[in-house]
Amino acid sequence: MTYSKIVESIPTVVPFIAPEELEERLGSPFLLRLGANESPFGSSSFGVKGAKAALDSLQNYADPRALELRGVLGKKLSVPIESTVLAGGIDELLSLFCRLFLSPGDHVVTTLGSYPTFDFAAMGTGATIIKVPYKDLRPDLDSLAEAAQNAKVVYLANPDNPSGWYHEAEALKKFIEGIPSSCVLLLDEAYIEFLTTQVPLAFDCESPNVIRLRTFSKIFGLAGLRLGYAVAHPDHIEALDKIRLHFGVSSVAQAAGILAVQHFGHTILVRERNAKARELLSQMGVRRGLAPLPSWTNFVTFDCGSKEVAESQLEQLLQARVFIRKPSQPPLDRCIRITVGTPEELELLDQLWDTE
Ligand code: PMP
Repeated sequence: MTYSKIVESIPTVVPFIAPEELEERLGSPFLLRLGANESPFGSSSFGVKGAKAALDSLQNYADPRALELRGVLGKKLSVPIESTVLAGGIDELLSLFCRLFLSPGDHVVTTLGSYPTFDFAAMGTGATIIKVPYKDLRPDLDSLAEAAQNAKVVYLANPDNPSGWYHEAEALKKFIEGIPSSCVLLLDEAYIEFLTTQVPLAFDCESPNVIRLRTFSKIFGLAGLRLGYAVAHPDHIEALDKIRLHFGVSSVAQAAGILAVQHFGHTILVRERNAKARELLSQMGVRRGLAPLPSWTNFVTFDCGSKEVAESQLEQLLQARVFIRKPSQPPLDRCIRITVGTPEELELLDQLWDTE
């Protein structure tokens, strides 16, 4: 049996080795799970309340248009409801928007070593991926814009994973102006709610060139639900209706999302706790001779100076049963990435993390 030509051309690689798989290899469970940028501060309690209430009517399909949640989101973000769409997380949205815009052979641009799910989504369409290296350990907007001149889609995570860097609204605006009108920017804002002082770029739903992608997985602490949304020109949202799974976003996810957005207080609390934890975590690395990269997210990436040191730090923490990640592509392959924890979790990390 053969698969489609596109599938046959994709190399067999596992982008994320699951913590559960690592636990099997280690033969014991992790004591700390600080490798997947999940929220250590729990789920939005209102989100959970919404999800629980929805369990009473699981016999029914959810509204395929998700009008109530889209309405609540539209109101919160001051964007028209026609400019919003929901799916099973940013991951699914990346896949959908790649299918919407890309044909085999089209060029797409991303940063080498940035969040890899975009690469998989693009590969699945048969597109050719151009990878622009990081510069100064952050996405290089000038080179990305240059590479985008012949591309159909450009992907940028802002804030970025795994560097943690955030490009300010002004820089982003200039970057967008440098992209040709035939190219669309998939702007992945999974971590945007963790910004404490900066004001994100205003939404412009009139522009067909920028698609904003956001998630309930991070600050809302609802990663297990699989819920994300896009804000884009209404034409794109309408076109997406041709290919999206109409009953893909469950009633449980929709109900959780509605209450989570209506009770935004949770995000303010988490943002504060996250900023404090990020500072504490950074200092812990500094005490071990590692240089924390500036971070606007819920993780800190530490420059270990060399790939070898980064690998030994990773190994040592895995052996201490602490789940973290190490970026695989240069120049960030000399770094390790640790998600913030609660004060108690960070105290335990401090004990388990060798100082030698
Ligand atoms: N984008 C980035 C940059 C991420 O780091 C992650 C999660 N690690 C995601 C998207 C995934 O988001 P979701 O859970 O909404 O699919």
